[in-house]
Amino acid sequence: MAETPRVAIVTGGARGIGAATARRLAADGRAVAVVDLKESDAQGAVDLITADGGKAVAVGADVSDADQVAAAVSQVAERLGPPQILVNNAGVIRDNLLFKMSDDDWDTVMNVHLRGSFLMSRAAQEHMTSQGWGRIVSLSSTSALGNRGQANYSTAKAGLQGLTKTLAIELGKFGVTANAVAPGFIETDMTKATAERVGMDFEEFKAAAAAQIPVRRAGRPEDIAATVSFLAGEEAGFVSGQVVYVAGGPRD
Ligand code: NAP
Repeated sequence: MAETPRVAIVTGGARGIGAATARRLAADGRAVAVVDLKESDAQGAVDLITADGGKAVAVGADVSDADQVAAAVSQVAERLGPPQILVNNAGVIRDNLLFKMSDDDWDTVMNVHLRGSFLMSRAAQEHMTSQGWGRIVSLSSTSALGNRGQANYSTAKAGLQGLTKTLAIELGKFGVTANAVAPGFIETDMTKATAERVGMDFEEFKAAAAAQIPVRRAGRPEDIAATVSFLAGEEAGFVSGQVVYVAGGPRD
């Protein structure tokens, strides 16, 4: 059965997991707004979607800025229609051991992941609740369980699980679900940056990670996109407030 067309927003959709998710949602028949810091970066993901016959627009916004978020969500509503699917994917890392972590490392990570997801969810829910249908999917991480060198990131990713459960409780009666996907090791620019930080070749870094993963491979952006596609889908209306670990094994 064909999915009903719905308007989706994917933040941080220019590359990595966000780009794969935007592409997957477009293939599912959604009209997709690819939001990233620079509209020109988001345009690359949009071009891939339109080349595949999908519908997408590029929107430039910093998700941690309230005015930019409000403007971006209104722009999506005007250009594509009221957004009913939101994927809070934009993310940054500023890894360091606690004693070397700066105030700015802490604030930047909190602002993008937590404040960004709060602002985007608050702006988007207005459209979802008035339509009586919505899906909010936020990207958590296995780092929410604790990870050396990531006091800021693991705190933000655990925080997103709390936000998800609360949104599920508050918005359920309006037909809106909220869930989190918690990826393990996924091959993207983010994990490439981590390999560089620890001074390892990326292929070696991936192989070392795969050896620790029960299915013996690194994750791919498409693994996460497929899970988001389900949670954002018509059939997932009774799944809410959940954290789905997508890590090639049990990580919670
Ligand atoms: P990525 O390749 O680094 O892509 C992140 C995207 O977010 C980039 O396009 C980036 O734009 C954008 N972004 C950063 N700050 C933003 C802001 N303030 N406003 C709007 N967009 C912003 O990361 P990824 O690996 O695909 O990760 C995607 C999500 O999954 C993140 O939330 C990450 O924490 C989570 N995750 C990743 C992994 C993994 O193994 N890769 C594991 C668990 C969870 P710029 O290019 O301009 O910086």
